[in-house]
Amino acid sequence: MLLTFAPVLDRIAEEIAGLTERGRPADYIPALASADPNSFGMAVAELDGTVYGVGDWQRPFSTQSVTKVFTLALTLARKGDPLWDHVGREPSGNPFNSLVQLEYENGIPRNPFINAGALVVTDQLHRMTGDASGVLLDFLRAESGNPDLDFDRDVAASENANGDRNAALAHFMASYDNIANPVPTLLREYFRQCSIEASCADLALATGFLARHGIRADGTRLLTRSQAKHVNAIMLTCGTYDAAGDFAYRVGLPGKSGVGGAIVAVVPGRCTLCVWSPGLDARGNSVAGVAALDRFTTITGLSVF
Ligand code: GLN
Repeated sequence: MLLTFAPVLDRIAEEIAGLTERGRPADYIPALASADPNSFGMAVAELDGTVYGVGDWQRPFSTQSVTKVFTLALTLARKGDPLWDHVGREPSGNPFNSLVQLEYENGIPRNPFINAGALVVTDQLHRMTGDASGVLLDFLRAESGNPDLDFDRDVAASENANGDRNAALAHFMASYDNIANPVPTLLREYFRQCSIEASCADLALATGFLARHGIRADGTRLLTRSQAKHVNAIMLTCGTYDAAGDFAYRVGLPGKSGVGGAIVAVVPGRCTLCVWSPGLDARGNSVAGVAALDRFTTITGLSVF
């Protein structure tokens, strides 16, 4: 079916403009608290790199936990299945920064998309490359075709200054020998990773390898077809934390959210999406973002179900 996305995006933006309840920006990271919940952008990237956008789709924002998708892919590509000795792949049913399951499960986090799991993945990537955040930034620049992507040092510093919970998670896992680097090194890498600024267009393009079954923008392979399926499956079941069931119900796509207000989503074999609006619900997902993706799959019929 030939479908042009431009009118679909216009229609969604119009509907979202009428949304009165938009949630609140994350305030536990002071540098994010001043974002305007009325901001909204959305982009769709085709497999060949054609991008459609609406609203603030070219405006950079704090990518936060959306980066967890890319560090997982980069780590899985290098380490393969032994990664699963360090982190599980079941939904947690708990908030993204929860400590409670870790003790019951002997320091092995439930999945790579809660903070504990992402810390383990970043730790492994840093152990293998010596430069986890740099490898991630290079990858995002290459896939988005945007060499200007960078860390936001103020956001990284703000997270570091307010990072007691992530520090607690990292130290706790280190006590189970599940962290290889010194904890301060790991936290520096993790906060740098979360601080990367990018736009909806950048992130929709950077997620393209997951719609192309593991193939990067330049035609080389990052992941095997199976590994790309694995990452998409974990996004579907764990990408929006303790709201993953509701996200699958409403949107029906692999997706990954971040507390900066972005969500990326994948229609395997067809296209990728990124939506951004900084107002969050109680579980840390963008209110307008989920609503917009819900409308997208409803209007186009493009979901995995
Ligand atoms: N940097 C944030 C944190 O570690 C990322 C959380 C998120 O986006 N859900 O708390």
